[in-house]
Amino acid sequence: MRLRVGHLYPDYLNIYADRGNIAVFARRAALRGLELDVTAIGLGETPAQGDYDLLYVGGGQDREQALIAPDIAAKGPALAEAVAGGAAVLAVCGGYQLLGRFYRDRYGSELPGAAVLPLHTVAGERRMIGDVLLECSFAGGPPRTIAGFENHAGRTVLDPGAEPLGRVVAGFGNDGSTGLEGCILGRAIGTYLHGPLLPRNPWLADWILAQAAAHRSGGEPPELAPLDDRLEAEAHAVSAERARARGGRY
Ligand code: GLN
Repeated sequence: MRLRVGHLYPDYLNIYADRGNIAVFARRAALRGLELDVTAIGLGETPAQGDYDLLYVGGGQDREQALIAPDIAAKGPALAEAVAGGAAVLAVCGGYQLLGRFYRDRYGSELPGAAVLPLHTVAGERRMIGDVLLECSFAGGPPRTIAGFENHAGRTVLDPGAEPLGRVVAGFGNDGSTGLEGCILGRAIGTYLHGPLLPRNPWLADWILAQAAAHRSGGEPPELAPLDDRLEAEAHAVSAERARARGGRY
């Protein structure tokens, strides 16, 4: 099976090695005999319905976000259609913010978003920087943890009834006060967590890959064969410990 991956704005939104998430998808897919077909989607290029099984967008500084915001807003209807059609999505930090309705930067400029995720973001004075640990239960079964690194001025407000990605165990998360982080809508995930995120959270990479495979086959998410993730587990443990020790402090 070939999974079609659309990488939005790889030249603009890629900080903290966010591009590394694509490498993790490719490697974990290949170890299960799945191939990844990665296509860059840039300014003025709008994905057609059903073109992609997985859409990915990384993070970026306010400056880069301002350069792409009008374009991602114009792609909004197509991206919303893709999400409604069951495509998997992973959006990180600045990309996560711009899948919402808008990001108002600290000078008060409102950058339009794709309005795919039920949220908006307003920048605060102090940046929220550090290691983060989340507890999640969206994947069913016992709660699982996600560990990563955050650096953002934006405070994200979820609409009433919107589902967060997880509960903050340590760190700031969406806004440093609600104790919530990220947002999940169907198979679309938005999060502030960089790192890159996936090398230290292999279960999340597999969950997203399985959703993309379900989109491709039109069936249920497949059970992916387990891999030897001892190194990933160590990286997760170190990251989680750092978050507990000093996450969520200005
Ligand atoms: N520029 C945005 C903010 O500061 C996003 C930053 C990022 O992607 N790390 O909130």
